[in-house]
Amino acid sequence: MRCPNCGVGAVFSGPLDMHDRCPNCTYRYEREHGYFLGAMVINFIVASGLMFASAIAAYLLTRDRTVTVVVPVVVTIIAVPGLLRHSRTLWMAIDLAAEPPRDDEFRPTEVGKDLGPEAETSRPVSG
Ligand SMILES: [Zn+2]
Repeated sequence: MRCPNCGVGAVFSGPLDMHDRCPNCTYRYEREHGYFLGAMVINFIVASGLMFASAIAAYLLTRDRTVTVVVPVVVTIIAVPGLLRHSRTLWMAIDLAAEPPRDDEFRPTEVGKDLGPEAETSRPVSG
């Protein structure tokens, strides 16, 4: 998954670990405290739909109550960690489209914190 601002820098540094800023353009991914609540809502909606659809499919295929309960739970447990990355990048893209980044979201304000070698090169400030 790539930075929603420049499309170049990686968003994730590990399976579930995020960079604080884009390694390419220094855009700060978490724009404010509690920023990823919207991603949690997206994840909840998608996981609920997946759980509901797998319950319907399990019921129609087996007509067994136990299978109808167990299959959606297993499907959801397996799918939700994989959905986390997608829901976060989707949320960042939606938010960025609704509210374009400000100049202060590119400047490295926390010295030595996950800025990488690009921390030394600052983005030109307009004005
Ligand atoms: Zn970027």
